[in-house]
Amino acid sequence: MEEIVKKDIRALDKEALRTFFVTQGQSAFRGNQVYEWLWQKGAHSFESMTNISKETRAFLETHFVINHIRVDQMQRSNDGTIKNAVRLHDLVVESVLIPTKTRTTACVSSQVGCSLDCKFCATSRLKRMRNLQPDEIYDQVVAIDQQSRLYFNRPLSNIVFMGMGEPLMNYNNVLKAIEKITDPEGLAMSPKRIIVSTSGVPKMIRKMAEDGVKFKLAVSLHSAIDSVRTTIMPFNETFPLAQLREALQFWYEKTKSRITYEYVVWKGINDNKAAIDALVEFCKFAPAKVNLIEYNPIDDGMFSQASQAAIDAYVNTLERHNITCTVRRSRGKDIDAACGQLANKQDVKIN
Ligand code: SAH
Repeated sequence: MEEIVKKDIRALDKEALRTFFVTQGQSAFRGNQVYEWLWQKGAHSFESMTNISKETRAFLETHFVINHIRVDQMQRSNDGTIKNAVRLHDLVVESVLIPTKTRTTACVSSQVGCSLDCKFCATSRLKRMRNLQPDEIYDQVVAIDQQSRLYFNRPLSNIVFMGMGEPLMNYNNVLKAIEKITDPEGLAMSPKRIIVSTSGVPKMIRKMAEDGVKFKLAVSLHSAIDSVRTTIMPFNETFPLAQLREALQFWYEKTKSRITYEYVVWKGINDNKAAIDALVEFCKFAPAKVNLIEYNPIDDGMFSQASQAAIDAYVNTLERHNITCTVRRSRGKDIDAACGQLANKQDVKIN
């Protein structure tokens, strides 16, 4: 007898599920029910789908699998931040829950490892192994929502794509995940509470603008001088600042959505007047906000946090030019859960 290769049922959208049931001689409505189990109720097994007949459940079992992630390991920081080791069916990524007084933010991964080579980021040391599937991204959000309810008595309020990977190098799957996250039949979250953070892939920024996406965009800039940016983010050679700026200008024209720049100030790299002036100049073409992020050390001799005076110089100059600017303290540093520190350090073993 021919062996049936089981398919991942969550790779099917609602229409495909409905069609599947029709081709099996059943009502399309079964498709809606199963969809609801999978995406709204977060079912991990066919057996738990109690309003579906036993025969149909058994039938689904023979044809499909539900590839569910497992949050396998949890570390809690002194500041309340929780870092998860997220076990996929083959590999492990990390996700982070960041609580503040009023919010809970989920920081999620989009790829296993990363193909970019930002010199200051721990994830760049793990080569890109694969893209995450939409459901694997969605599941990270669901798991953090559950943790937020359990530990902080409130639902998840915000999502940032600032975990492992470059979201715009896995654009289609990230988009599908966000569709589920914002869908009233999924988590029903507002896209305004979602930030996709990119190192700046011009072609994909244009695509996002053309697609009319409703979430927010953050760009990891770190330097507005090509030669400096190329040293610390070597792919800048392929996508230089002029191209990035053009794409961002297009983004702003299409979406009218302000651009956030993420920026770390390092000693001897960008803690000087020329760097500040270049940043101010770069910010001029569209409304911008600069987040000055604290550096999270990754055991590399090349980088160290700039002095407070250097940060103050950035803040003063940006404010003088009416550019909104915030200085962000890092969270979860003691458990290597802060930006750029996600590198599967716990070495979680896969069976
Ligand atoms: N690839 C995407 C998302 C992942 S990185 C991007 O580049 O935006 C998320 C954020 O952490 C980025 O702004 C990145 O520049 C920043 N980051 C990386 N390493 C860091 C470090 N060691 N300290 C502080 N921020 C870091």
